[in-house]
Amino acid sequence: MENIYDLIVIGAGPAGLSAGLYGARAKMKTLIIEKDKTGGQIVTTEEVANYPGSIRNATGPSLIARMVEQCEEFGAEKIKDNIVEINLDDKIKVLKGEKGEYRTKAVIIATGASPRKLNVPGEKEFTGKGVSYCATCDGDFFTDFEVFVIGGGDTAVEEAMFLTKFARKVTVVHRRDKLRAAKSIQEKAFKNSKIEFMYNTVVKELKGDGILESIIFENKETGEVWEYRADEEDGTMGVFIFVGYIPQTDLFKEKLDMDDRGYLITDSEMRTNIPGVFAAGDCRQKVLRQVVTATADGAIASIMAEKYINENFEE
Ligand code: NAP
Repeated sequence: MENIYDLIVIGAGPAGLSAGLYGARAKMKTLIIEKDKTGGQIVTTEEVANYPGSIRNATGPSLIARMVEQCEEFGAEKIKDNIVEINLDDKIKVLKGEKGEYRTKAVIIATGASPRKLNVPGEKEFTGKGVSYCATCDGDFFTDFEVFVIGGGDTAVEEAMFLTKFARKVTVVHRRDKLRAAKSIQEKAFKNSKIEFMYNTVVKELKGDGILESIIFENKETGEVWEYRADEEDGTMGVFIFVGYIPQTDLFKEKLDMDDRGYLITDSEMRTNIPGVFAAGDCRQKVLRQVVTATADGAIASIMAEKYINENFEE
């Protein structure tokens, strides 16, 4: 008999794992497909302080590990594949991956978002050689080195504080004259003696010979451009870029409604414009992108997928 899933969830971050958990608990034949590593962006977070009920000192990876366990306990299947083509128009949706083809009655898209790049010369070349988008992953490489954090939002300021555990000095470089981060986060950072702030400043170029050695900055107010070289003894320094995120929704362009920034548009029940196709988490247009809202989206999407299947497919 043809292997048709009730529910396929694309993405295994908090939204996808929550959708998978609810799907499996409702006894739907559920598959979670993840292209890379499980967990999404939260696994790059050292401290999950604001997820209600999370145990003290919970880290992104520990929270995700528990979510995966729960999914498995209830029988959700999980595989690694990169979905490259989709047909959502027919009643049975077909997802084509690099490893296989998957058929399902309902789909929940929980593909999340990925770090926005600065798109300056040298950024790509020195990624992993001084440039990073993940403090948890790469912070300890810069123990006792100097580090720059680019961005002025919650992520940049929180990660700057985290990086002071390793770096001897952290400079937050922000393009405007005031931070975007929440006041409570700013206040904590201002008290940290290892953090300095450089306002009205952008990165023009990252330079080096095999490894990052210098940064070209520009002051947006004065137009002054200068080159900052790593301490000679260090030979290098860290540049951590936290300038927001871009939704991973390219696959759905011209198929599903999205806003001009590429976030999928759903109603409050996570329905997209195609019946049987739902979206949850950071990939969708919403006001707050946090674990708590991602897991809530996943739960709602799954319950609505179950309702859709009951209404549209015979037993
Ligand atoms: P964000 O709020 O979008 O902030 C991005 C920052 O990068 C802004 O300061 C922005 O500058 C700057 N920026 C954007 N493009 C840039 C460029 N090309 N060059 C230089 N700077 C650039 O992103 P986020 O901080 O990652 O936060 C994302 C979401 O997660 C937010 O909703 C945030 O509240 C949430 N979050 C919450 C927590 C928490 O509550 N603990 C922690 C992390 C994230 P401008 O200010 O000039 O626009």
